[in-house]
Amino acid sequence: MIARVSLEIALRKEFDYSIPAELASLVDVGSRVQVPFGPRKILGVVTAVAEESGQAKLKPILKVIGGQTLVTPKVLQLARWIADYYCCAPETALKSVLPEAVRKEDAGWRERLFVRPLPVSGEFPKLPKRQQEVWNLVEERREISLAELVELAKTTAATVRKLEDHGLVEITSEISERDPYAREIILATQPLVVNPAQAAALEKITSAMDAKNDACPVMREKPEAAASAASRLTPHASRTFLLHGVTGSGKTEVYLQAIAHALEHGKGAIVLVPEISLTPQTVERFKARFSSGKLQTLVAVLHSHLSAGERHDEWHKIRQGRARIVIGARSAIFAPVEPLGLIIVDEEHEHTYKQEEAPRYHARDVAIMRGQMENAVVVLGSATPSLESYANCKKGKFTLLDLPERVDDQKMPHVRIVDMRQSVRDGKGPPIFSPQLKEAITQRLERKEQTILFLNRRGYSTSLQCPKCGYVAECPNCSVSLTYHRAEQKLACHICGHTEIVPSVCPEPKCKNPAIRFAGTGTQKVEDILGKLFPHARIQRMDADVMKRKDDYRRVLGDFRTGKIDILIGTQMIAKGLHFPNVTLVGIIYADMALHQPDFRAGERTFQLLTQVAGRAGRGDVEGEVFVQAFTPFHPAIQYARRHDFVGFYEQELAFREQLKYPPFSRVALLTLKGRNEEKVKFAAEHLKRELEKKLIERQVQSPKPKDLADGTTLDLGHRILDLIIAGPAPAPLLRAENFYRYQIMLRTRAMSALSRELAQIIQSLTLPEDVSLVVDIDPVSLS
Ligand SMILES: [Zn+2]
Ligand SMILES: [Zn+2]
Repeated sequence: MIARVSLEIALRKEFDYSIPAELASLVDVGSRVQVPFGPRKILGVVTAVAEESGQAKLKPILKVIGGQTLVTPKVLQLARWIADYYCCAPETALKSVLPEAVRKEDAGWRERLFVRPLPVSGEFPKLPKRQQEVWNLVEERREISLAELVELAKTTAATVRKLEDHGLVEITSEISERDPYAREIILATQPLVVNPAQAAALEKITSAMDAKNDACPVMREKPEAAASAASRLTPHASRTFLLHGVTGSGKTEVYLQAIAHALEHGKGAIVLVPEISLTPQTVERFKARFSSGKLQTLVAVLHSHLSAGERHDEWHKIRQGRARIVIGARSAIFAPVEPLGLIIVDEEHEHTYKQEEAPRYHARDVAIMRGQMENAVVVLGSATPSLESYANCKKGKFTLLDLPERVDDQKMPHVRIVDMRQSVRDGKGPPIFSPQLKEAITQRLERKEQTILFLNRRGYSTSLQCPKCGYVAECPNCSVSLTYHRAEQKLACHICGHTEIVPSVCPEPKCKNPAIRFAGTGTQKVEDILGKLFPHARIQRMDADVMKRKDDYRRVLGDFRTGKIDILIGTQMIAKGLHFPNVTLVGIIYADMALHQPDFRAGERTFQLLTQVAGRAGRGDVEGEVFVQAFTPFHPAIQYARRHDFVGFYEQELAFREQLKYPPFSRVALLTLKGRNEEKVKFAAEHLKRELEKKLIERQVQSPKPKDLADGTTLDLGHRILDLIIAGPAPAPLLRAENFYRYQIMLRTRAMSALSRELAQIIQSLTLPEDVSLVVDIDPVSLS
């Protein structure tokens, strides 16, 4: 027998190896193996097993890693789809489906050797001094891991083995499982009583799970052809749901009861949550529900804060079927749950579901694809769904489920827009706090209620300017201005981390103006001014500058919950998921800050952020109030957020996107070229553009009709096959980052999988100058 192996080095090619007789029982599709490659030994995954090979003189597989196949055939199929659709090497996609701790050879089950003293019969032997010291320690500790003993006694394993030879100790090998939540005390919970809207949503989801269906005949009949076929499949509306629930509407309870239903039918579930929402509280809610009773199962957690060992163990608990529920960030979508009944993607609009390095997959879209491949029901949940998912409901691809009201009859907060243009005082610029917001904070302090203030910009001032010559302090490596951090007395770049001391006069040699000034407001300044306005208030700031250690987040939220903090100031860290009954006021310092970014999603993002932040108010008995300070108070994103009018905003935003042929009316492939020499990058980008035009037109359209559109050098190929628009090359919105110049070409099409395949071929035959690199991002979430 021979095995076809995809090697971990990106060669876009698979190689055949012979399976030695002694490994025959271990090698299967999905096995991790070590194979010889030239003079090296390389790791790879078996993608197929066959009787014979077209290649002569096969080398044998050297070693099989792990006792079980690590990549299940279903996950393998998913990896192939990712390579195909996201235009990356299959090896790169395969690599991402296993956590590094599982992939690497050295991360087997961390079996640990334990040393225990044995009862001494007869006379105690006379030991050399070192051995006697080691024995003393073992006797004192009664049980100690060999590694710890060796370290503690500053000895070697050989010395301990000598004690074993004397019959004084036993050394046994045991699996010591690491449990990242071992220290938590988890109290079991029972299902809550659901309201009619929750019940209706649950009913739809559970009956979809119960429905017998033949969702994917292609997968069943010809799994090997499925990868490319899959990219053409469209989701079944009856099995993909968008759960749109306003903030506080009890989405999690729906998830929990849907998971219980999956377990009752012998199936497992994957729950994706954004990394930032993966707090111990979130995890506890899931663990508590399934910690006892007849549906008891382990809940495995996968996220980046786990140690490699913990990640390894959590993953294997899933692979062995002991943990049937997985809760995790983006990459948990690849967890080997079998059989899989349900996938939940909470906060599905979150951009952190998109991986920013190859493979640049979007976990929500991978979830939908996996659901289709494995006949699992997929539930996307959000208070502010992405426009793409909303459009998919309108098109009938997903089923929309609505939770229009908060649980326990809490009212939606009252949102007031403050027109900041009216607060601008002569020559002094706008204040940070409008009189209205100041008054509202005063009231809350008097009533001993809590306030959250939101500003999505950290630091003190966002730039340092000279009013005389116009000098602005900029990062030497990136095309952004430097932010002033007052506590550290330095200027810092938020892109590359570069820091500088603050000049005392304008650095322009001809200017030297001592009256340089800071402009723009960051969270540090808000904290500072607030402290002056309310000297007796207990104020805490929460942003990446303060939250440096793992426990900080938890500690601050704990203090806020127990009322040790009156006012919490924060960036997007505080925007979602937090539930504090005593918060009755939310202030959004500059609502329109994100509106004016060069990104077609700026409006959608602002609407989502305002709605999410506002949702933190009024989660208890007292109705919440939200003050939105804005310089463009009549912008639709702000006005619709004020009225909690989700449908209104989405409808007008859809009209705008359709007009400009942006997603969801097309899909985007963003090609970014980068290098240190701007001229070379620009030249390479223009060359690539010509190649794209030549190849894509040649293959797709017979008679192109080039025509200039409003958005630059756009080539309209007409509504044929691809519906392709090629725009650019143009400098990236952030032209220079970490000393690399970036130029972009944007392609838009209605049929991305076809374009992806064409792109893969074009890129392979493309020769770029050696110091210019190309990044292909399919369905990018950020255009910067
Ligand atoms: Zn100057
Ligand atoms: Zn920089």
